[in-house]
Amino acid sequence: MNDLARIVAWGAAALVPPHCAGCDAPGAWLCLACRDACDAEDVPRIGLPVRAAGTYAGPLRTAIHRYKYRGEPGLAAELGDLVASLLAADLARGARVDVIVPVPLHPRRVRERGYDQTALLAERVASRTDVPLRTALRRVRHLRPQIELDRPERLRNVSGAFAGVSGSLRGTAVALVDDVVTTGATLRETARAARRCGARRVRAYAVAHDE
Ligand SMILES: [Zn+2]
Repeated sequence: MNDLARIVAWGAAALVPPHCAGCDAPGAWLCLACRDACDAEDVPRIGLPVRAAGTYAGPLRTAIHRYKYRGEPGLAAELGDLVASLLAADLARGARVDVIVPVPLHPRRVRERGYDQTALLAERVASRTDVPLRTALRRVRHLRPQIELDRPERLRNVSGAFAGVSGSLRGTAVALVDDVVTTGATLRETARAARRCGARRVRAYAVAHDE
């Protein structure tokens, strides 16, 4: 999309009043009833604790697709609230989380989309839970979208893809925020980068788990 087309798309998106990705009801991008229908799950075999607000299917899949690919950043609020409630539940159970760190996108991807979808989610989660946000990591290699790749390619694709300032997360318990977790390769690699920056513990939260 060129700049003019993007501005036109943004203008059009801004004029569309919120309507639910699940049931089309007006008033929200993903209504409370559709949010309640999401079943939170622990995502196994990632190598760090990962929780997702639901399976990448149905209304959640539609909502994420609209959020990521159809230029509807307004969805960050409702999707971020889903993730925030997962973190809030863990905090209520006594989990320690000092900072929220979004899984970083490559700047080129952010430019193409016009917004940074994981940063917007993480901002929402931070404001809902009062845990400070720290954009401590950055993506140092442009990645092919994981969705285009098979499993072994996905693992190679993310190796060494993230970096941060040494010591910037020293001694902290970090909660990573991402949109969709698939194989977990991206989260594992991001967690590794967080530990290199001094993080003591890393857990992660995602909107959806794509099995
Ligand atoms: Zn709905």
